[in-house]
Amino acid sequence: MYNYMPEGISAFLKKRLDEHTVSTIKYDYGTVTKTGDGVARISNLPKCKYGELLRFENDVYGMALDLEEDRIGAVILDTSDTVYENSTVIGTGEVAETPVGNSLLGRVIDPIGRPLDGRFLIPEEYYPCERHAPKIIERRPIDTPLQTGILAIDSMIPIGRGQRELIIGDRQTGKTSIAIDTILNQKNSDVICVYCCIGQKASSISGLVETLRDKGALPYTVVVAATASDSPAMQYLAPFTAASISEWFMEKGKDVLVVYDDLSKHAVAYRTMSLLLMRPPGREAYPGDIFYLHSRLLERSACMSEACAGGSVTALPIIETMAGNISAYIPTNVISITDGQIYLEEELFHSGIRPAVNTGLSVSRVGRAAQCGAMKRVSGTLRIELSKFREMAVFARFGSDVDSSTAKLLKKGQILTELFKQKKASPFTVFEETVILLAYKCDVFDDIEIKRLNDFTQKLFAFLKKSYSVLASSINQSGDLSDDDEAELKKAFSIFKGSYHE
Ligand code: ATP
Ligand code: MG
Repeated sequence: MYNYMPEGISAFLKKRLDEHTVSTIKYDYGTVTKTGDGVARISNLPKCKYGELLRFENDVYGMALDLEEDRIGAVILDTSDTVYENSTVIGTGEVAETPVGNSLLGRVIDPIGRPLDGRFLIPEEYYPCERHAPKIIERRPIDTPLQTGILAIDSMIPIGRGQRELIIGDRQTGKTSIAIDTILNQKNSDVICVYCCIGQKASSISGLVETLRDKGALPYTVVVAATASDSPAMQYLAPFTAASISEWFMEKGKDVLVVYDDLSKHAVAYRTMSLLLMRPPGREAYPGDIFYLHSRLLERSACMSEACAGGSVTALPIIETMAGNISAYIPTNVISITDGQIYLEEELFHSGIRPAVNTGLSVSRVGRAAQCGAMKRVSGTLRIELSKFREMAVFARFGSDVDSSTAKLLKKGQILTELFKQKKASPFTVFEETVILLAYKCDVFDDIEIKRLNDFTQKLFAFLKKSYSVLASSINQSGDLSDDDEAELKKAFSIFKGSYHE
């Protein structure tokens, strides 16, 4: 047979065979003593480490989470049907890892890095799912804005690159939509996005991936998915995997946006795991280390100094509340860990104010440091005006007689509320946001009927895009609004108003 082989190849194979050394890998073998509900108790594995991957028979993997004196408790990552008592289990000596790298862009993977989109994945590198958060000395203050494209957020609750901003609200209040819109808005920026879904329906995940693909956002996005039918251990691992994937890009100097949708389901998965492992339950039956679970995850988002490649990971964790109760255990924990929250209110959502951001309860602790120059200039007192309006609106409901200054305030408030309404998947550019708020500041909308506002702004945008395209692209690129630009825009407003007809 070798006669047919070209000389070069046979020589190469011979050389490889000569060079080959046989090394022995030593595995520890243990025995499953008890199994059920996705959890296994194992004896005879005294050297097992915390978080070590264990291989059961039939290539089923598990993770060691309870290390006791004479036995260990492990959660099973895949289906647990094939793990039975007295079967052998091997300690692999490795912790759970995930593939990282550019090859993941545009892909959908599960928490242990297996592709879910039916295509092969050739990983470049692996990172452990659990890693230490960057040290204080390696970080730098947050100063660059991350544009969400949502006017109400960019103007009043600005998010900076490296910040952790919680999106909190009841079910079906548009939480996921805000996160997805933010991902869509990164299309023309250099931000890489990682979307991690925990415990959602497989159908909604596939719908979401379709949306990302349709809008052209998939090429710069990685989706990590643990569906509701996956084991609690998989759901527990998912956000840590997403964090490791983000960190790889951050270490290469890229800015990354990671969405954890949602951490309430993550907490529930961890509670299930802990209860099955017989850990003592604490408040609301969550285990004692539930705060540590989320804090060590969210601490991994950071804005790195120039000496450490200067990348950043911005996190948008999502929490679902029950009947608007933000003082429950998990919501308060995550509120205290993050650098601010966007609070979505069901009442606003149903009254048609979408996105349903409650500006009174929403904050960004990084504040204006993370806002672009143009926004800083035009968004000055919006929050105060809006809260004054909400207060007045309650009183105005009772009496019909209001003095002229109150009537003006009410009208301005109505205009602002209307301007903040924004459809799903239609993010604004910096220029568009600046134009709306500058026009509002200059009372351009005051004599327009509320129901015609949308039509007016659309026509205004079209006019400006046609006649002021140079100004538009310069503001979009620099994010700044100079005195001259402002004067030019004001002139444009008066020209447009002269020609506007319904
Ligand atoms: P869940 O609790 O199920 O995760 P959620 O809070 O993530 O829900 P979404 O799924 O984002 O909410 O949105 C709920 C519904 O509201 C969707 O049907 C979506 O189309 C609609 N919606 C969200 N934002 C807007 C918007 N700005 N304008 C119009 N409709 C919207
Ligand atoms: Mg959702």
